[in-house]
Amino acid sequence: MRQQKLQHILKETFGYSSFRFEQLNIINSILDGKDSLAIMPTGGGKSLCYQIPALFLDGVTLVISPLISLMQDQVMNLKEYGVHSVFLNSSLSYKESNKAKAQILEGGVKIVYVSPEGILSPALSEFFNQIKISLIAIDEAHCVSQWGHEFRKDYTRLGELKSMFPDVTVVALTATADAKTRNDISMQLRLNNPNIFVSSFDRPNINYMILERTDEMKQIDEFIKANHKNDTGIVYCLSRDKVDRVALALKKLKYNAIPYHAGLTKEQRSTNQGLFNTEEKVIVVATIAFGMGIDRPDVRFVAHLDLPKSIESYYQETGRAGRDGKASNAWMIYGLQDVVKLSQMLETTEADESYKKVARFKLDCMLALCEAGSCRRRYLLSYFGEESSGQCGNCDTCIVPPQLWDATIDAQKILSTIFRTNQTFGAGHIIEVLRGSKNAKVTDRNHHALSVYGIGANQPRDHWNSILRQLLNLNYITIKNWEYRSLGLTSKSQEILSGVIKLELRKQTFAIGKEDKKEKKVAKTTDSVHGRNDLFDSLKDLRNKIAKEKGMPSYIVFNDKSLHDMCMIMPRNDSEFLLVYGVGQSKLENYGKAFLEVVRQY
Ligand code: ADP
Ligand code: ZN
Repeated sequence: MRQQKLQHILKETFGYSSFRFEQLNIINSILDGKDSLAIMPTGGGKSLCYQIPALFLDGVTLVISPLISLMQDQVMNLKEYGVHSVFLNSSLSYKESNKAKAQILEGGVKIVYVSPEGILSPALSEFFNQIKISLIAIDEAHCVSQWGHEFRKDYTRLGELKSMFPDVTVVALTATADAKTRNDISMQLRLNNPNIFVSSFDRPNINYMILERTDEMKQIDEFIKANHKNDTGIVYCLSRDKVDRVALALKKLKYNAIPYHAGLTKEQRSTNQGLFNTEEKVIVVATIAFGMGIDRPDVRFVAHLDLPKSIESYYQETGRAGRDGKASNAWMIYGLQDVVKLSQMLETTEADESYKKVARFKLDCMLALCEAGSCRRRYLLSYFGEESSGQCGNCDTCIVPPQLWDATIDAQKILSTIFRTNQTFGAGHIIEVLRGSKNAKVTDRNHHALSVYGIGANQPRDHWNSILRQLLNLNYITIKNWEYRSLGLTSKSQEILSGVIKLELRKQTFAIGKEDKKEKKVAKTTDSVHGRNDLFDSLKDLRNKIAKEKGMPSYIVFNDKSLHDMCMIMPRNDSEFLLVYGVGQSKLENYGKAFLEVVRQY
């Protein structure tokens, strides 16, 4: 009974035909009255996990959300689906807030979005005591944790909700992957023995491509021109200066590019964010300040012109592409200079040594991803603790396998040096010995007397660093002591030392000579509209016209995926229109007639 009703809500209200990932399990856990922690990749569909229970249950669901803009979007979006929701936050005037409260008291409002400080304020908590709360959902729950990467002080008090509403089920939702943050979330929020759901982190529709930087502007221009002429995308840069520079350069190249970073005024930022939400083809050039609150489902590419400082950041940023499930590109260029810059930034922060150690390790993992000689996706997923097999077929290394070189002898040199120095030193020292450094650290320990001393003097430091990272990545060496980051051999090391296996590594241009310039393919993101380009264009025109009249982002009316579906199905009547992705009762009533007419005319 329950399952049927849930399925019915999914189709009737939201227009989707099946649940994704763990959605159904999470919803059932909530409806069983269990506290739950849902971890799903960005774009995975977290919102439905509380929106459907909200519709299923009697009373009002409270959603704690960190950003005002996010709340506004969600409420606007839900309205289109015929779901009555409101938000209560500091952007409302006294009068508006009273009006929202009156609507809640009248009944009919199913979902109330509220900020963390709002819900804990005496006035609001008193107000909510008068009504039946069916569920509390805490969105972006990683903000509660100092281990997460977007810690927010006002989130830390949310544990108090458990004493304020002792009988109400709580669901916390986040896209953050690491175990430490997860534990911290459930502790801080005082979740009661929660069911934890981790969905696969794979985003199969995203193509990953990582290249070495040669000529930044030329590379990005060629990439966009070849693949995304009519698309919306985000270009991430490390600094504000660079954002301004690149935005200007793209504009000169006739792209609709706008900058976004924390150095702009609040008004400029909100205007630019607004443009990003509403314009058809727009490219936002941004620092990582542009992040939370991006809901746009049809971002077709995310480009990185600089190396992010961790895989977590990279994955979150690239995850903003293709939330609609359609083919999208995560494209990045990087160079040795990035590593130097990021390392410098890291060493000069005031953070304590243990933090720096973790940060250095994360940066190394990011580099290992860049240098990976095999499937990028497999590396990414394994970083998040997920096994995957073989080749994904949708990343650059799968599509055009990188040039490899026989690194067996150099790897043997490294492994011998680690062995001869008793597996007690870090990468820096190993390389010093290999390259025959006269550094006191080497000579004081008599390491200049070892047989391995100076056997790697013919190659630069980066060459050895790159091999070391890859050996670590492939588990031929391991970190023996985290505090000193000393390297040790593994059970696999012997295979290389004895020459049983040949070690092939990826060629790095900046370390190991020039790589051949091969043309590499990226995902073709122009989905088929079944040869009905004219129809697609007319549907798009209609959608944009409606969006403009209503003053809302066009994707809230229908996203591209729905329009593509219309081109395929060519619906002739209401019941056929309901087959279209994202069409529920409310959208049928509001827009069915107009869109059906466009199809009919075609
Ligand atoms: P996030 O996990 O990042 O919060 P959202 O909840 O915004 O993701 O969902 C991302 C997109 O996926 C939205 O456009 C949403 O409507 C869509 N979506 C969610 N669940 C489903 C589903 N079961 N079938 C199809 N589309 C879905
Ligand atoms: Zn792959």
